[in-house]
Amino acid sequence: MLETKLQELKTRLAEINDLHAANGVLTWDQTIYMPPDGAAARGRQIATLAHIAHEKFIDPAVGHLLDDLRPHEESLPYDSADASLIRIARHDYERAIRVPPQFMAQIFAHTAESYEVWSRARPDNDFAAVQPYLEKTVELSRELANFSPGYDHIADPLIDMSDYGMKAADVRTLFAELRKQQVPIVRAIVAQEAADDSCLHQFYPEDKQLSFGAEVIKRFGYDFRRGRQDKSPHPYMINFSISDVRITTRVKERNLGEGLFSSLHEAGHALYEQGVRRDFEGLPLASGTSAGVHESQSRLWENQIGRSKGFWQHFYPKLQAVFPEQLGNVSVETFYRAINKVQRSLIRTDADEVTYNLHVMMRFDFELDLLEGRLAVRDLPEVWRERFKTDMGIAPPDDRDGVLQDVHWYSGIIGGAFQGYTLGNILSAQIFDAALRVHPNLPDEIAQGEFSTLRTWLIDNIHQYGRMFTAPELIERATGSPMHIGPYINYLYTKYGELYTL
Ligand code: ZN
Repeated sequence: MLETKLQELKTRLAEINDLHAANGVLTWDQTIYMPPDGAAARGRQIATLAHIAHEKFIDPAVGHLLDDLRPHEESLPYDSADASLIRIARHDYERAIRVPPQFMAQIFAHTAESYEVWSRARPDNDFAAVQPYLEKTVELSRELANFSPGYDHIADPLIDMSDYGMKAADVRTLFAELRKQQVPIVRAIVAQEAADDSCLHQFYPEDKQLSFGAEVIKRFGYDFRRGRQDKSPHPYMINFSISDVRITTRVKERNLGEGLFSSLHEAGHALYEQGVRRDFEGLPLASGTSAGVHESQSRLWENQIGRSKGFWQHFYPKLQAVFPEQLGNVSVETFYRAINKVQRSLIRTDADEVTYNLHVMMRFDFELDLLEGRLAVRDLPEVWRERFKTDMGIAPPDDRDGVLQDVHWYSGIIGGAFQGYTLGNILSAQIFDAALRVHPNLPDEIAQGEFSTLRTWLIDNIHQYGRMFTAPELIERATGSPMHIGPYINYLYTKYGELYTL
């Protein structure tokens, strides 16, 4: 009897998953192949499929199945696949039925309009134009949070949507400590002579860049029989099943780092999705568990590996062979310094790995302040400049490169949009550190272009579980301790202490 109910639940969830996957293909096609005038119809098609998927999911029959299966779930160990499936499906279901569809429609309509206004306001440096929209967004975000009463902090229900298991207080504690440690590192580095990265800004033909990047991610273990790489204006990873995990990259012929490191980054996301247990196919468990853990995987392959000295010991001669005219006379030391150049930048997406977190943490703090009502939207440009000056020692000359720079607040809700990036950096070091304790020879293998030990460790300890565990549960199991910044700070001091005087 219970077996039949469990099977029925799985069948229903798999159908809903198929609809989401089909929508994914439509979205992917929209950024890769779709002619520009197809946008209006495509938007409608995506909305229709999403609506059908949502209706099927909030069907009370799903709720009844979950209720009936509760005794079965409780009879199983917490970490069994079936118990996890029922638990995660219930979490998703309860969240989905809490918010009335009309309210979600109101959010979508408002954010679509807000995005339109922002896309003109940013080039015009016109914060006043978006201010009323952002005020409304803050209001709607608060209302959305209030559909999940009983929180400690109003941002908790919003953070829960991307980083399930994390609360504002947890993130705040980690970030406060990190900021205290990281600001002095940035100060020390930017006071010294900047690295010369002119070698990266020669002419690098696109096709050669793409094939070199593809070779590297193949070595990482990205399976091209279960994935592919295309070009898009903004790089991303998207999966339609465990056996179809695609990535996109963006190539600039005058910037070698752009395409290469976006490929390594997105491949890190993709390795996570390709590493999920195959028997989770079609179920809600078949996906990375949180934005923070996902970003830990992309940052691990992009930075911990891809910007490391050992990695380039092996790959630099190969890169030189592809670009003999550009790099034949550039030493590996010069190249290594160039790809790890640290500088104060106004724009988050252009920031290097040392300054990046400062960009993220200020946004996170502002989100909490806005939601708490301690900060008014009209004061945002000014507090942005002040905070930037405190943390980076410079202030943006205008709002275009200040408060208007990111699309997030103008195309979605406030709260929970940014913290995953910095959690990812913190966790990338904690996870690599744990792998290193088990396999102290990892650096030697990496210096030989060999990644299978690391990849296997990641599959066994992180990837295979999909969404079975929340991020805090998973990190504790994989690394033996709760999330903490120690390994990340060590990583920064070790690596940048060699490049600069710290
Ligand atoms: Zn990412």
